Amino acid sequence: MIKIMTNVTTHTSKLIGKYGAMVQWRAGTNQTEIKQSCIDAKCQFLEGEQYMDHDTGEIVPKEWITISEGTITKDPEYMHNGRRLIKVDKCFSLFGTPMLSAFEIDKKFPERLGIAGLQKAIDDAPRNSDRARGALVGNASTIMTEKEMDQVDRTIRGTLKYHILYDHAWKDNPWILKYAVASCNSLRDVRTAINRGATQCSIVLPQSMINLYKGKKINGFKMLQCPENTTNGRITCSNCGGNKGPLCDAQERHDMVIMFNQHGGRSWKRQRKTLMTNIAKKAGVSLEEMERVIKENDHIAIVDIGRRAASKVKGRTIKKYKAFMELYE
Ligand code: SF4
Repeated sequence: MIKIMTNVTTHTSKLIGKYGAMVQWRAGTNQTEIKQSCIDAKCQFLEGEQYMDHDTGEIVPKEWITISEGTITKDPEYMHNGRRLIKVDKCFSLFGTPMLSAFEIDKKFPERLGIAGLQKAIDDAPRNSDRARGALVGNASTIMTEKEMDQVDRTIRGTLKYHILYDHAWKDNPWILKYAVASCNSLRDVRTAINRGATQCSIVLPQSMINLYKGKKINGFKMLQCPENTTNGRITCSNCGGNKGPLCDAQERHDMVIMFNQHGGRSWKRQRKTLMTNIAKKAGVSLEEMERVIKENDHIAIVDIGRRAASKVKGRTIKKYKAFMELYE
């Protein structure tokens, strides 16, 4: 049996879309196999808290890094010898909902496993559903053969138009590049993947770096940000790409590097949102109001919110709130 588990999701907003459902498969028939596929892929996102040169992929020890904490207007900065590094996050899929929701699917719903399970999900999907998302968690190339991957891809494309798929193990298993976006850790990886025949690449970066690279080209591939990151839920995998098909269908789309902003459990994006929520609550304003005054750079309102929030907390939290709100005295 091909080691995949498939379902038709009806309640993950990113994947539901206009048809109310989307076919999605995981690489592995249980959680142990899924995790092993990521270990075999030597995926960098298995381990968080590493500092990396986003260009070369070089990892620099934490004790060599100078850290400037993030604020309402700035991402945190990690510097070494004049180079700005990025902090590698833990994988959102493996340590988040996509893995958790795989819990015991294998025991409770054995009919969802293998090619039969994939075909069942396709049959159960709404008739106008046009795409499947593969390896929602896990890496296909470390858990199946090229022949099996071909069977999975043909089963999907026999009914649906598009197949969204990424893989981290393309260096060891270059055959996967025919089916999957090359998940890259660094820009050096992107160049290597392109030289090895990748049609599409992806990379995870802090938003401030994405802003620097947006619209530029690397080895002829255009760099652009995943629209799901920037459209407040209006564009997701379910409607991405319009009539041309989703950007992460490596057979339909070509010559792009899709940049994702860091979104793991410990990413600055999430930490910032938590801090904003807590400060807004302490200051007695809504999160939307706080976001508005920051966007409009309303200095008086920002100072007021920061001071009110700081007056409601104790000890180190006061310093933390003031530093985040850029209240320097
Ligand atoms: S670029 Fe499109 S297909 Fe790829 S992850 Fe973003 S929304 Fe989904």
